[in-house]
Amino acid sequence: MSRLSLKDARDSYDVVVIGAGLAGLTAANTLARAGRSVLLLEQHYKLGGLATCFYRSGGHVYDVSLHGFPVGMIKSCRRYWNQEIADSIVQLPNIRFDNPMFSLTTSFNRDDFTQLLIERFGIAPEKVFDFFDTARGMNFYDDQKVSTRELFERFFPGREDVVRLLMEPITYANGSTLDDPALTYGIVFSNFMSKGVFTFEGGTDRLILLMRQELLNNGVDICLGADVEKIEVDGSRRVNGVTASGKSFETRTIKTKAVVSNANLKTTVLDMIGREILDPKFVEETEAVRLNNSSAQVYMALRPGEMIDESCGDLLFSSTAPTFRTDMLLSRDITSRTYSFYYPKTRPERDRCLVVSSTNANYNDWADLPEDEYQQGKQDLVESTLDALEKYVPDIREKLDHVEAATPVTFKRYTKHLDGASFGTKFEGLAVSRALPEQVPGVYHAGSVGIIMSGWLGAVNYGVIVANDVDGYLLKQ
Ligand SMILES: Cc1cc2nc3c(=O)[nH]c(=O)nc-3n(C[C@H](O)[C@H](O)[C@H](O)COP(=O)(O)OP(=O)(O)OC[C@H]3O[C@@H](n4cnc5c(N)ncnc54)[C@H](O)[C@@H]3O)c2cc1C
Repeated sequence: MSRLSLKDARDSYDVVVIGAGLAGLTAANTLARAGRSVLLLEQHYKLGGLATCFYRSGGHVYDVSLHGFPVGMIKSCRRYWNQEIADSIVQLPNIRFDNPMFSLTTSFNRDDFTQLLIERFGIAPEKVFDFFDTARGMNFYDDQKVSTRELFERFFPGREDVVRLLMEPITYANGSTLDDPALTYGIVFSNFMSKGVFTFEGGTDRLILLMRQELLNNGVDICLGADVEKIEVDGSRRVNGVTASGKSFETRTIKTKAVVSNANLKTTVLDMIGREILDPKFVEETEAVRLNNSSAQVYMALRPGEMIDESCGDLLFSSTAPTFRTDMLLSRDITSRTYSFYYPKTRPERDRCLVVSSTNANYNDWADLPEDEYQQGKQDLVESTLDALEKYVPDIREKLDHVEAATPVTFKRYTKHLDGASFGTKFEGLAVSRALPEQVPGVYHAGSVGIIMSGWLGAVNYGVIVANDVDGYLLKQ
């Protein structure tokens, strides 16, 4: 049964899941299917975390992070959710690049990229095959010291245009840089190169509705507006409860044998558990984990009946920067934007066209601005985005019904991610996340850490991995 308030929840559960992002939702579902009693606590008033959407008057629905994911989501959703969810995943056919080095449209899969690299960029076929095979063959146990920059230098020395084609979408997507381990690039790139870029038909609202229904069918108790303050630990450093507060109930502690936290890794370890009871070396390692960057977005809805030609593409990686530099992608002086074009096919019953422009952004560029400067910054972001979009949709201003911007501060407010991190932490967060149960038996973390375990697919898969760990732990109790 669904519970709206924590005051109605039972006194104890096998597992409490903190946070209803894709990893938390999937962990909760997997554990409930395994026969565990599960309580899912979410501080926001809705499920989904960053996999969310919001409504504006005029019948507009904006997706926040539904821009594209790899084909692997179909298999993961079929196995760990249900057939209806899996069957709603469809390919985005037209991925476009437009920058001073090249303009092209691709289906973003291995065959098409192979052809482009050979015919358009003049790379020798054996080099291209070797590159794809090397990227495909990378796995987590490989050497983590080789950087993405070194990987590209090995295959395409001096070819900035090729590096831009291969790397820019991945950097746009998850903020990774040429200095990150090559294997993180190889795994994410190969996931996409398997079949291309996919989306969810019906939008994020439909996905989350279907997931909610599945959770309820499997007996998960869901409490929204339940902000977890503390993971309770007994004298032998073993978890025994979770304390949460909320507007509609008094602070309450629920007993549990295991916890899965989907909240930010650093918050989970340093605040919810607390430094005092942890090994100082583990605390040091956690403190050293770097957060990923955040994002800024501009949401644009066209008036009913106004259309954008589908030749604009589904995803457009645009840049006016003459060369590819990852630091420029983070600057408030924006030269690069990714546009997601949502045609009526996304939500056929609404028959609307929307555009969402995304850029990587630094929290500190927005966090401490006085209110008037912050609002002005948002307005400037809107205006400069409309100016830039005019290149692709010349009459966008006339067609527009509603526009607004979100900043790193917005992302922090809704998800409580430190610095509004849109992909959790950098790669080193994974080791800390995996080591947590050794520190506090029964406490697990599942959620964006590093590039592989982030994004829609990474989060879902990490939720499953951790749910299986928890099930194994409970079997031994
Ligand atoms: C602008 C943007 C665009 C993106 N685009 C894409 C894309 O196109 N493709 C893709 O694959 N990925 C994309 N991503 C990334 C993707 O959305 C995330 O990696 C993924 O959704 C994260 O899932 P998660 O399970 O780590 O949890 P999150 O979504 O981070 O959710 C964590 C949840 O924990 C809750 N929580 C936090 N603290 C507490 C607490 N104390 N008590 C209770 N609950 C708490 C939060 O409210 C939240 O619901 C994008 C992200 C952003 C920001």
